[in-house]
Amino acid sequence: MTQKGKIGVTTDNIFPIIKKFLYSDHEIFLRELVSNAVDATQKLKTIASMGDFKGELGDLTIHIYIDKEAGTITISDRGIGMTADEIDKYINEIALSSANDFLDKYKDNAHAIIGHFGLGFYSAFMVSKKVEIITQSYQENSQAVKWSCDGTPEYTIEKIEKESRGTDIVLHIDDENKDFLKKEKIESLLNKYCKFLPIPIAFGKKQEWKEDKHVETDEDNVINNTTPAWTRKPTELKDEDYMNFYRELYPFAEEPLFWIYLNVDYPFALTGILYFPRIKSNIDLQRNKIQLYSNQVFVTDSVEGIVPEFLTLLHGVIDSPDIPLNVSRSYLQSDNNVKKISNHISKKVADKLEELFKKERTQFEEKWDSLKLFIEYGMLSDEKFYDRAKGFALVKNLDGKYFTLDEYKTLIKGNQTDKDGNLVYLYTNDKDEQYTHIDAAKEKGYDILLMDGQLDVHWVGLLEQKLEKSRFIRVDSDTAENIIVKEESAKVDLTDKQKENLEEVVKSQLPKIEKTEFSVDFKSLGKDVRPIQITQNEFSRRMKEMSQMQPGMAFYGEMPDTYQIALNIDSPIIAEIISETETKEKEELTQYANEKKTLHQLIDLALLSNGMLKGEALSDFIKRNYESLKENK
Ligand code: ADP
Repeated sequence: MTQKGKIGVTTDNIFPIIKKFLYSDHEIFLRELVSNAVDATQKLKTIASMGDFKGELGDLTIHIYIDKEAGTITISDRGIGMTADEIDKYINEIALSSANDFLDKYKDNAHAIIGHFGLGFYSAFMVSKKVEIITQSYQENSQAVKWSCDGTPEYTIEKIEKESRGTDIVLHIDDENKDFLKKEKIESLLNKYCKFLPIPIAFGKKQEWKEDKHVETDEDNVINNTTPAWTRKPTELKDEDYMNFYRELYPFAEEPLFWIYLNVDYPFALTGILYFPRIKSNIDLQRNKIQLYSNQVFVTDSVEGIVPEFLTLLHGVIDSPDIPLNVSRSYLQSDNNVKKISNHISKKVADKLEELFKKERTQFEEKWDSLKLFIEYGMLSDEKFYDRAKGFALVKNLDGKYFTLDEYKTLIKGNQTDKDGNLVYLYTNDKDEQYTHIDAAKEKGYDILLMDGQLDVHWVGLLEQKLEKSRFIRVDSDTAENIIVKEESAKVDLTDKQKENLEEVVKSQLPKIEKTEFSVDFKSLGKDVRPIQITQNEFSRRMKEMSQMQPGMAFYGEMPDTYQIALNIDSPIIAEIISETETKEKEELTQYANEKKTLHQLIDLALLSNGMLKGEALSDFIKRNYESLKENK
């Protein structure tokens, strides 16, 4: 006899809602139904382990079948099954207390509906015109039944014969969703959502390469790994297992640097493995995202907002049964458990780095160049992480030595404190271009840091805020004599007229360089120091660098680069020019300068040592020098 009835939803429009609002995420029906099959199978295993089921468990593999001709997909399990009463209770009576209110409130948020109502099973109607449940309970002598519903609230239920315990869910795919009847489509969905489910899932048969073509074997094609590394005890896992699992997750990625095993059970349960990738330079290239699972069911791989931003650079897996499966991103982000997860992971990551630093400093240093971007990013974007990382964040000097911030402070305190008690950290971001300045600074016994990373400009800014009385100055920001001002500098004893004339003479010999401006500075540096040096002010240069990375500061980016020409008035040649020009009229100066060959040569040399002599100016310089070699012969 066939029983007829009406599904107990207090509103008649649940089906249109399911169809309409869930449109974008149709594919999750497969995840929902396979998860149900897994649950039913695990329940049976639990019951059996408690001795309440005495029959044979047998092969518990869940099978997915496509029947193209009939237009159906079947998900078949050998789990606990359902009796007619249970179907009534779990399927017909959807537990909607105040369905209308709720649907009204959440009609724009399909995920919330699914999640709140446990409509997992009903997601089948997103892609089906008819759904059948063919099921037999594990309980002794239970009657197998078939439930059938065509997408209206009416259903039928009838007694049938079924070969064995368990449930087949048969989906009669509707015309708009025929795509799901393609083998490749289902394969890719299983691969996305079910790859690490705890019960074997078989789809089709394994293929074999025989006589130049693929042929099917008798063996089930099991698509999942039921015991992925994160579900195993860390004591069981060897390095190789971590590596293999990484390759399973990201077949094309380079090997990771190291990993962290996460295992928490209070105040929420969470397991996972996070890998540190080898970050080279470009943050945007980190495409292997962290995957979020809930009891081995894939939830999402867009974890922004769920884990702290800088941690999205990591790879790997996080699994927490406390992460609700079916809710929207905004819901996830506001969820308290999820927030705790984020903080916790951040802490764990810092702990692991600290441990590595303390126990294996040499290894830590070897990895530093690859870790640096990640750690600096973390320190810049997460206050708490800054506090945790400040003890193990390293700086590297030009000799390739690594120091913690404290160690480095101790190193330079003696020689690099200025007259106001500020500690001056000297750095370069290009040791070839800034070679002359580096050389000069080294002569003074100064130590120089290499800061050529993508985030270093910002990081230096952050350190200046955090470290007391500390300034970071790029080595070409001033002459070596003045870069760390240790005593009041010697007074420049020139009249205004002398200054004006000298400036005019020097400027007349400067090449035109696009978007570049020069100002002239007079310094008394002693007669042995080079007569002309070119420097670039730290502050304005840094503003420009920052602007290139921050959209709102484009204004600075448009401004020309300003360089200072530092003239050492104590040097014999500059002293000579001063005395030769002090009585000259303005009109005479350019001609004087043109004839003063050494001046031109000194300016070009200063430009050259800053990597600024280019194009025509460089070519002229070379020609001129060849000529003078000939003359000297
Ligand atoms: P949820 O899984 O969130 O409880 P569903 O709508 O997906 O919600 O399923 C409702 C109930 O139907 C399940 O809790 C379970 O009792 C029963 N059920 C669904 N699928 C199966 C199955 N394959 N085998 C046995 N019981 C099932």
